[in-house]
Amino acid sequence: MGQAENIADLNSSWAKEGRTPRIAIVGAGLSGIGAVIALRKAGYSDLTVYEKAERIGGTWRDNHYPGLSCDVPSYWYSYSFEPNADWSHRFSYGPEILKYIDHVAEKYDVMSTVQLNSPVTELTYLGPRWRLKAEGHDPQIFDFVISATGILHHPAYPDIAGLDAFKGAMFHTTRWDDSVALEGKRVGIIGTGSTSAQIVGEITKKVGHMSVFQRTPHWVAPLPQKEYGPIWKTILRTFPALHLFLVWFYKRLMLTTFAKATIGDVEEQQKIQQACLEMLEKTVPDPELRAKLTPDYKATCKRLIFCSDFYPAISHDNAELVTAGITAIEPEGVRTEDGRMHELDVLVLATGFKVSEFILPTKVYGENNLELSKQWDGAPRAHRAMTIPGFPNFWMLEGPTGPVGNLSLISITENQIAYMIQCLDKMKTEKAASIEVKPEAFESLNREMAEAVRTTTWATGGCTSWYIDKTGIPNLYPWHPSRFYKEMEQVDFSEYKLTS
Ligand code: NAP
Repeated sequence: MGQAENIADLNSSWAKEGRTPRIAIVGAGLSGIGAVIALRKAGYSDLTVYEKAERIGGTWRDNHYPGLSCDVPSYWYSYSFEPNADWSHRFSYGPEILKYIDHVAEKYDVMSTVQLNSPVTELTYLGPRWRLKAEGHDPQIFDFVISATGILHHPAYPDIAGLDAFKGAMFHTTRWDDSVALEGKRVGIIGTGSTSAQIVGEITKKVGHMSVFQRTPHWVAPLPQKEYGPIWKTILRTFPALHLFLVWFYKRLMLTTFAKATIGDVEEQQKIQQACLEMLEKTVPDPELRAKLTPDYKATCKRLIFCSDFYPAISHDNAELVTAGITAIEPEGVRTEDGRMHELDVLVLATGFKVSEFILPTKVYGENNLELSKQWDGAPRAHRAMTIPGFPNFWMLEGPTGPVGNLSLISITENQIAYMIQCLDKMKTEKAASIEVKPEAFESLNREMAEAVRTTTWATGGCTSWYIDKTGIPNLYPWHPSRFYKEMEQVDFSEYKLTS
């Protein structure tokens, strides 16, 4: 379609005209790729994916730090339509996941829909269609926009004086500089979350000296890693039912243990805390170090770390856990409040992500020119993590409150995509030009969420984390995942306004 023809056709409504909707997808990570495949299967084939980077893969492309792995079991961290009997480990390492994503994209011809190096800069609702502007492209008109940008992709840099003064190599974990050799170097890492634990567990053995700057100790649970041999892979390939059973088993395990612990099940929470304490006791012989590593809040309050390598690494002779607060970064290293200078060659910032951005800084203008960043004001909200009042025909995958406990993100996004397809099908049968969540449904669910979060361990556990935003709304789904799966099964259309 030519540009002029495309723009002139603003009032066109795909459902009324009986044509396929033009759908834009922002981001070619796991959600965007899954959306292309599922939408095509459902008969929605006019798809364009705008990917800001030079390759697909999302978080598994951005992150390539040493030790990168996924703490969700591999068989479950796979698309349901593309099981993989060849996973080499129970918990996959980053490069293998990226290879799997490439394989899926190639097998299902996803790349024919993807525009690489095409950051979306502006989305404007012109009713009932959207105008999309992307770098390197003429503006385009779409019937439907799906934001599949993910949540943890904007690095958070610490607000520490002198950060730019450091004269060695310094980078955030999600911008890892592969050209910097670590062998024999004095390496420092700020932060002790999931990312840091994986890095420290991996690199301590090769660096000269490892300084780990801990502001708050985190609970660390054992990760029962296992390598799969060729006989096992053949068995799994021969008996697909066994594969399905394993997916069911891991999901069930998560739902009956961890998921219950986070939403207030005291017994499950204590079992997890006990398992963490036992690993700490077994793997950290020094009682003084053990004390420094022991959190004073409840396990599962912050994001629980699954890692069996961190404690042995931090107990190693060449490692030091620094608990004195950081006062400044200086050219030679990190100065702590006890006056000590920790001299370093390399400084890694494992300080997490800005969690309230999602599709931002893309300018997204909804009805009446309402701008998304103003509407959110630093506290993103959505209805069922997917839609926002005032932004018809605009959907998010893994939007605000999208993560459901430590569930497989692929499982969550597949459910959201199926839900969204139900809405498209409904528009088709009702010949609707637009669909939008009703403000009262949105408000009521968000109120319920703010109420529900109060009894979760994230709120009662005595810690602060990215799990609850500045207004008390959780950044995660605050109920048991079984409720999420049920909600996704059947759209309650009384929550939505369909306009013809
Ligand atoms: P994170 O959990 O947000 O941890 C950031 C760390 O940096 C914390 O220890 C924090 O201390 C520290 N920090 C932040 N600002 C600081 C400052 N100014 N001074 C000193 N310390 C500072 O980030 P992350 O480890 O990158 O993990 C982010 C998320 O990624 C996780 O929650 C998880 O969802 C995901 N992830 C998943 C996997 C997986 O296997 N599935 C692996 C890695 C990451 P405080 O605790 O005191 O705030």
